[in-house]
Amino acid sequence: MRTITHFIEGKDYIAEGERHADVFAPNTGKVQAHVTLATVETVNHAVEVAQKAQREWAATNPQRRARVMFEFKRLVEQDKDRLAQLLSSEHGKVLSDAQGDIQRGLEVIEFACGIPHAQKGEYTDSAGPGIDVYSMRQPLGVVAGITPFNFPAMIPMWMFGVAIACGNAFILKPSERDPSVPVELAKLMLQAGLPKGVLNVVHGDKVAVDALLDHQEVKAASFVGSSDIANYVYERGARAGKRIQAMGGAKNHGIVMPDADLDQVVADLVGAAYGSAGERCMALPVVVPVGEGTAEKLIDKLIPAIKAIKVSHSEDKSAHYGPVVTATHKSRIEEYIELAISEGANLIYDGRTSQIPEHTNGYFIGPTLFDNVTADMRSYQEEIFGPVLQIVRATDFNHAVSLASDHQYGNGVAIYTRNGHAAREFAQRVNVGMVGINVPIPVPVAYHTFGGWKRSAFGDTNQHGMEGVKFWTKVKTVTQRWPDGSDTNDNAFVIPTME
Ligand code: NAD
Repeated sequence: MRTITHFIEGKDYIAEGERHADVFAPNTGKVQAHVTLATVETVNHAVEVAQKAQREWAATNPQRRARVMFEFKRLVEQDKDRLAQLLSSEHGKVLSDAQGDIQRGLEVIEFACGIPHAQKGEYTDSAGPGIDVYSMRQPLGVVAGITPFNFPAMIPMWMFGVAIACGNAFILKPSERDPSVPVELAKLMLQAGLPKGVLNVVHGDKVAVDALLDHQEVKAASFVGSSDIANYVYERGARAGKRIQAMGGAKNHGIVMPDADLDQVVADLVGAAYGSAGERCMALPVVVPVGEGTAEKLIDKLIPAIKAIKVSHSEDKSAHYGPVVTATHKSRIEEYIELAISEGANLIYDGRTSQIPEHTNGYFIGPTLFDNVTADMRSYQEEIFGPVLQIVRATDFNHAVSLASDHQYGNGVAIYTRNGHAAREFAQRVNVGMVGINVPIPVPVAYHTFGGWKRSAFGDTNQHGMEGVKFWTKVKTVTQRWPDGSDTNDNAFVIPTME
């Protein structure tokens, strides 16, 4: 049985007395590896190593730091097929989607290649007589990232790409459910020229996360995962005096106005609702047809599209999506389907009976569709995170805006319409962080920033783009003058003003 170890100071690391967790193969339901779970001592060791490496890395000029990112990008591209295969085997997403997971992370690395420009400070010449003011963005020191299972390549790269480019040393605590690719990425960073100890991977569960959050030398932590844990991480980290950003769960709505192009909606919706088995924080698990008759027309087109979805082994190139990540997660999704039925939602298409020949023990669930879901149902209020699409009918535009705005989650939302005024009004009013207009999964490009609102994000800084640079650095502002001795200050006891 393969053992996935920590990666500290540029080498595999395993310590006495550590616990292990099983890493499953979602296609077959078998255990394919064990991952070591860090003790507090292992986390402390990684922080110590990172602290030593950070000083020199921070003193390395930004062009040289950027060159490591350029080379890393080249190495990952060269190795993409192998990484995608490994990712797919632990996560269960199909190979083409695993390639997308890596590619979206690499786009943040491309942004990080521009760090000499992005981290440049500001300068005001002659802010006062003979006085100049400049500000610089300095790295924080040792920082950490705690990542979820659903994007094991992209989300670690969102975080360590920008943090390391800014001159920090990084400790990555990836999901214990698909931990292999993060280690491979750290090895490629080393190969790309990153000094040992600047990027370390520590596997683990709550014990490792708490140790990182409590450690006084960890100056900031970025978290992505479910909302209750995001909230917990935010509070515990902030109490320990750290800078924390913590992204949580989601329940994104797709609003379909009566004038929308329904063929386009259905083509987009099946991918957005069921792609990656619905295990995306920017999936569209709720569709809101607006006005009389829109729901019926939508369902007529949706059913054949759902019937055409092929669920299969993640390496089957003709599959649209593969298994969900674990047996536990599969059961949780099935419980939500039961709950929705008991709450009175109308089950139009039941994916629970899907069987994949030769893979009967894999964690497969077929696409599932509910109609007549209402806002008071718990199955609507909570995140299911599976291939389950819920139709919530809205009487008019205002009703649709309030459904998305009043939901506890506010990650993403999309509107389908041909009416520019309605679209603009929607984008202005909706209480959600990322908005798509005729775009189903509005994940912003790497040089913009990613982040939801309400219980989808705790803390106030987004991931990547210039918000990422802000999060991973602190500003120092210098006010300087070089007097020649001829100035006298008659007013030294009064606060200087620019009056
Ligand atoms: P999760 O919350 O179970 O795990 C996330 C991380 O927290 C993992 O590294 C895990 O080891 C750690 N963790 C788990 N239990 C913990 C505990 N009790 N204390 C401290 N740390 C703990 O999330 P997941 O199931 O891996 O990922 C799916 C969730 O992530 C979904 O809710 C999804 O919406 C969300 N997500 C959000 C975004 C976003 O940007 N908003 C992006 C991707 C995923």
